[in-house]
Amino acid sequence: MKKQFKSESKRLLDLMINSIYTNKDIFLRELISNSSDAIDKLYYRSLTDKSVKIERESLEIKIEKDEKKRTLTIIDNGIGMTKEELENNLGTIAKSGSLAFKEEIDQKKDIDIIGQFGVGFYSAFMVSQKIEVTSKSIESDEAYTWTSTGADGYSIEKSSYFENGTKIVLYLKEDTEEDQYSDYLEEYTLKTLIKKYSDYIRYPIKMEVVKHELVDEKENKYEDKIEIETINTMIPLWKKNKKDVSEEEYHNFYIDKFNDYEKPLKVITSSVEGMTTYKSLLFIPSHAPYDYYTKEYEKGLSLYASGVLIMEKCSDLLPDYFSFVKGVVDSEDLSLNISREILQKSNSLRTIAKSIETKLIKELTTMLKEDREKYNEFFKVFGTQLKYGIYNNYGMDKDKLKDLVLFYSSKEEKLITLKEYLEKMPKEQENIYYASGESINKIAKLPQVEQIKDKGYDLLYLSEYVDEFAISALQEYEKKKFVNVCRDNVDLLSDEEKNQDKKVNEENSELLKEMKELLKDVTEVKFTNKLKKHPVCLSVKGDVSIEMQKVFESMPNDIPIKAETVLEINETHPICDKLKNLYQNDKDTFNKYAKILYSEARMIAGLTIEDPTEISNLICDVISK
Ligand code: ADP
Repeated sequence: MKKQFKSESKRLLDLMINSIYTNKDIFLRELISNSSDAIDKLYYRSLTDKSVKIERESLEIKIEKDEKKRTLTIIDNGIGMTKEELENNLGTIAKSGSLAFKEEIDQKKDIDIIGQFGVGFYSAFMVSQKIEVTSKSIESDEAYTWTSTGADGYSIEKSSYFENGTKIVLYLKEDTEEDQYSDYLEEYTLKTLIKKYSDYIRYPIKMEVVKHELVDEKENKYEDKIEIETINTMIPLWKKNKKDVSEEEYHNFYIDKFNDYEKPLKVITSSVEGMTTYKSLLFIPSHAPYDYYTKEYEKGLSLYASGVLIMEKCSDLLPDYFSFVKGVVDSEDLSLNISREILQKSNSLRTIAKSIETKLIKELTTMLKEDREKYNEFFKVFGTQLKYGIYNNYGMDKDKLKDLVLFYSSKEEKLITLKEYLEKMPKEQENIYYASGESINKIAKLPQVEQIKDKGYDLLYLSEYVDEFAISALQEYEKKKFVNVCRDNVDLLSDEEKNQDKKVNEENSELLKEMKELLKDVTEVKFTNKLKKHPVCLSVKGDVSIEMQKVFESMPNDIPIKAETVLEINETHPICDKLKNLYQNDKDTFNKYAKILYSEARMIAGLTIEDPTEISNLICDVISK
């Protein structure tokens, strides 16, 4: 009986079958990689389950070709699949990479990117008109064959196959002018592809090869002999010397293993001996994984104990702020059949994690120094993560990360480090100034920004909501305090100006008090001479800024933390005299003015106005007079 593919699988399948992409070669790497995973699973099983007995030496992947039948066959003696598994695994898209691929295709309508993706099993349809997958799981005594010609569905039937593992027979498509599918039946092509994409596979990939051998020297007579040859070197990439591995090999490995469609931004290798012994091969992706911001995303590195995969995603190896890092760690310090719980408590694992963290910080620091363009690219994608790292865990890691974060400089008009801010700071400047808001443009227009710029000081513009939390966790950098220019007590005035300020506020204390009572949610109303041309601004007292309050308000379980706001009115602005005058002569209009000015200040600060209709009516009352 024919069964239909799940709809999204069908769509991917259609794309594979009708693919016009030139790099069809990758199907072989995908199938070999699946076989290798299946053998890994079986081997690991044998270590943890005594009833499963296998010989390490017998584990292998075989490639067979039959020119007459136009078939290419891939056989492994891995864990195999039950009937249900055949149905579930091959009837649906399971692979994260395939899903990402599908989304990308939907968005870009660009078919040329096929083949850059780790598209898994379905990629075999790029070269086959029919595929038969026969498999026997170690859980079952029966084997089944899954057959499909692609678009019109698949069928599953019982088979007489008796070996554990999986055999995949590809019936190659007919050759066309553009595509010579029969190339995949050539020994040379197959060898080249295996060496190029699958050399590091840890199990032998065996194939029959024809050896042209000299049998009689005198007669100079040659004979063709058929031999079984192991094509791959089987040395995992991370065990090879860095200089013996090409960039392309690292990239192919990354794309294949981590189902990405783009090469990584950075490859980081290390080989450590001493307190702990391990080799690692780490990658910084060039873009955020497609599910990075979902709950489903799991951080972690693949953990191998002496070459055997013991955990696909070991999360303890990475701090949260490096959760985007992908890679492999292989150590001889870990025992093979160790349970997850014991592993998590093991000292060796902790030492390795520490060492990896140090390595990553070092590599990023070097990138920042030596390749700023690349670092900026990195920071654009993952910078937020580092900023989280600064304030998470009560700021425990802030010292490690403070030199890796960038903020927007108002003067330089680009991202700079805190160190760079300090280097350009005038001698008399005591603090590091910052302002926060929704966007760089909006921050630049805040009334409070002007006084700092007038002094010739640089300001950091914080437009990401994590920024201020990171800054408040840091508190200071190289003994310079961070000062929010929207705090009411920014101290940049001369003594004379301060005295003048004090005097005006004292003289008008009644007026200000009345205004505060009228406006209710402000903590204070005062006159100021720090605002140059702007009439009003909303400042804060205390550590909670307006931007932080906005973040708290946007959280699902509304945290009732509010900023203490201060309405500051420019005492050198004509509005000041107008207010004084109204206060004496026309209380009703004075009240209207107070409300309008407060609304203006809120608006500038990016806060909403509780009753916009009331304010709109008040403005009309005033202007129609
Ligand atoms: P992925 O390998 O990323 O999961 P695939 O589409 O390539 O995606 O394969 C789907 C699933 O089919 C695999 O996860 C695996 O469970 C199963 N599978 C594929 N090939 C084999 C094989 N040779 N042996 C056992 N299981 C396999």
